[in-house]
Amino acid sequence: TAAPDLQAIIDRIAEEMAGQADRGKVADYIPGLARVDPKHFGISIATHDGKMYSAGDAAMPFSIQSVSKVFALTIALGKVGDSLWQRVGREPSGNAFNSIVQLEAEHGIPRNPFINAGAIVVADVILAGHQPKEAIGEILRFVRQIAGDDGIMIDDEVAKGEAETGFRNAALANYMRSFGNIHHPVEQVLGVYFHQCALTMTCEQLARAGRYLMLEGQHPDTGFNVISPMRARRINALMMLCGHYDGSGEFAFRVGIPGKSGVGGGIMLIVPGIASIAVWSPGLNDRGNSTLGSLALERLAVATGWSVFNQR
Ligand code: GLU
Repeated sequence: TAAPDLQAIIDRIAEEMAGQADRGKVADYIPGLARVDPKHFGISIATHDGKMYSAGDAAMPFSIQSVSKVFALTIALGKVGDSLWQRVGREPSGNAFNSIVQLEAEHGIPRNPFINAGAIVVADVILAGHQPKEAIGEILRFVRQIAGDDGIMIDDEVAKGEAETGFRNAALANYMRSFGNIHHPVEQVLGVYFHQCALTMTCEQLARAGRYLMLEGQHPDTGFNVISPMRARRINALMMLCGHYDGSGEFAFRVGIPGKSGVGGGIMLIVPGIASIAVWSPGLNDRGNSTLGSLALERLAVATGWSVFNQR
């Protein structure tokens, strides 16, 4: 089959999204997110052959929030390898991203690394042997390196807002610490976690950052392995099952491609071997996933035929 005309497809999708009345609700728990205009929509695609395609507000920075959990997991696996799985599970939670209920039944072991509790354990792993500032610097350097872009920043105002309102995250961290599954002072671990959530990126930067997950762990600019092919495959599997909070089943059903969303309205999507995609629209559906981002990716999957459940 002929290669799809990606630029024409995403131009059309961006136009269709501009006409959508139902955009959902922008996250409003901190001012840095609440003030973002719900009208924005951007999309970028980085393909396996090194091309980039963008439409809409693809060059506008936004708060990547929970999308950062994928990068943090990659760093933590690089540090401690598969021993990470003794401290974090690999099952979808079926509960809200910030739920505490399952932690009791599972003795302080979070269900997966993409719910908040799991990401807080991952932050604890990254913090080992570092001061919090160094751990935050390591995450920032990593993301800049995989994106090939030193312009990527952390929004300190967003990080501060997270810290001021992060009572639930503090509860999760303290609760896990009581089971011995957090090894560093809770304030330090949360400091790392909140700054990681405050990474600010454009769709173009995020699509470029995800390329190693499309390429079996290899960095396309250097040829070096960011992680092994097996780990890249497993991270993609985790995104499919746990990447959209308690809306992960719905996303897999509609889009059929592994992705990770964040409450800033961003979604990173990985079509293995084919494309790394970022989409952003700040309005969220009732599960906390970008309303238009999900719709746009559903249309992109139909228009391109991309899916991990059909192979041609
Ligand atoms: N900073 C948010 C929190 O920890 C992340 C939410 C998200 O994107 O899922 O509550």
